Amino acid sequence: MAAERFEIAIAGGGPAGIACAAVLAQAGVPGLLIDEHPRLGGPGLRDAAGAFSPFAPAWARTVRAIRSLKKEALTVLPRTGLIGIEPGPRLLLAPEEGGLREIACRRLVIATGARERFLPFPGWTLPGVIATGAVQMLLKQGILPAADFVVGGAGPFLLAVAADIVRRGGRVRALANESRLADLLPPPGLLAGQGVKILDGLLRTLRVLVSGTRIAHGTRLLEARGAGRLQAVVTARVDKSGRHLPGTERVVPAALLAMGFGFTANIEPAQLAGCPLFFEDTLGGWLVQTDESLRTGVEGIYAAGEVTGVGGAEKSLLEGRLAGLAILEEMGRLDAAGRGEITRLQRKRKALLSFGRWFNRPSRFAAACRTNWFASLPDELTICRCEEVRLRDIRRTLAAGCRTPAGIKKATRCGMGVCQGNTCKGILQEVVAALTGGPPGGFPPPSVRAPLRPVDLGLLGGDTV
Ligand SMILES: Cc1cc2nc3c(=O)[nH]c(=O)nc-3n(C[C@H](O)[C@H](O)[C@H](O)COP(=O)(O)OP(=O)(O)OC[C@H]3O[C@@H](n4cnc5c(N)ncnc54)[C@H](O)[C@@H]3O)c2cc1C
Repeated sequence: MAAERFEIAIAGGGPAGIACAAVLAQAGVPGLLIDEHPRLGGPGLRDAAGAFSPFAPAWARTVRAIRSLKKEALTVLPRTGLIGIEPGPRLLLAPEEGGLREIACRRLVIATGARERFLPFPGWTLPGVIATGAVQMLLKQGILPAADFVVGGAGPFLLAVAADIVRRGGRVRALANESRLADLLPPPGLLAGQGVKILDGLLRTLRVLVSGTRIAHGTRLLEARGAGRLQAVVTARVDKSGRHLPGTERVVPAALLAMGFGFTANIEPAQLAGCPLFFEDTLGGWLVQTDESLRTGVEGIYAAGEVTGVGGAEKSLLEGRLAGLAILEEMGRLDAAGRGEITRLQRKRKALLSFGRWFNRPSRFAAACRTNWFASLPDELTICRCEEVRLRDIRRTLAAGCRTPAGIKKATRCGMGVCQGNTCKGILQEVVAALTGGPPGGFPPPSVRAPLRPVDLGLLGGDTV
């Protein structure tokens, strides 16, 4: 297959990828923007009209950036998955309509964003238990998937989703947030310049409370219960060491449980490309290491947005622009004003990283807390639903002396199913860390190899359609 050539390829059409593409296209640099979704904007933007709310300035800027993209210099490939990266960099793409495309580029910007993070509890695989982000996407498309909800898990995103459900006419019977209220309140140093976000948060809290929802902090999703599909959610209060407090259980009837435990970065393309990674739990776990100009450790490859630290759309927009300007500087196409902007963006990025740390911290639990929690989970709990691996299998493998997630994966097939471990490979790391008493970053990140998305074997074997 002959490779098509581009000066620059950008993987990911969320705020970071778009902001980067806008800078480069404005300067007339021929580039390629790839995203596996039909619409640009990333998961936070599934409703362009909603983006113009005064409380969502970053999304309004993202929509404007999409509209301003100078199409003469930019090729946009939606519905196209990046499934492989080889040195060069050379990219292997799988367009939704079929076939494969190979791209050779001088520079690559990895802006593949983040996905939701899940933790297992009894009943979490029942029909009717779905991700908070999935509920939100349905709502943004005008679909209210049930009348009665429970929202649960950990972190500040739960409140945002509960408020969206209420706004669209749903009833949230309970919001069970394992994070403690004190951890969800931003520290004073973070409040400066965040007036809009704070007001937004207060209005959402008010909306949820006025609707009659019971908001409970320090409260765990103990069990999702039902015969064949969800009928009720059992919640219970937990103490600071992660033990649930007997006698505090509540059974809440619900047709749908929206659950989530924060976010984790989509680092897999960067891993394939050999970019050095680092672990910081309060920025989302394993992340791509960059310098201040967002260059990774691999020549010609940059990373921007959630992949360098989960921090929200504002940070991603900034980093996309910063990566674009840094590339122009490297190409000798930046004037003094542009160089001044790089310095200003680098300074502002530090504040946005602090915001990211506050945002992620409540959904990350102390080691002792995780150990007590996972120790209390039953043997029959499903960990990998594709390969039907249970907690029992992991406990047995650990007891047999295999004490790393990589070894347990090989022994049990946990994470080797069709979802390619997207859901459970993070869970496996956390379970092994909790059961062995180590930190979740104490093991190397889960391994990755091409193809990053499921594709027809015949295609990889050389068929072109
Ligand atoms: C489920 C979910 C819901 C969210 N809802 C909100 C919200 O309502 N409000 C809010 O403010 N923030 C929300 N966020 C956070 C917000 O989306 C992010 O802060 C922001 O979009 C990050 O921008 P980014 O450009 O770094 O990454 P993203 O916006 O995530 O963009 C990354 C893009 O890369 C693409 N991609 C990833 N891997 C591949 C691949 N292998 N091949 C091709 N394309 C690929 C994805 O399709 C995606 O469009 C949500 C996040 C998630 C995960």
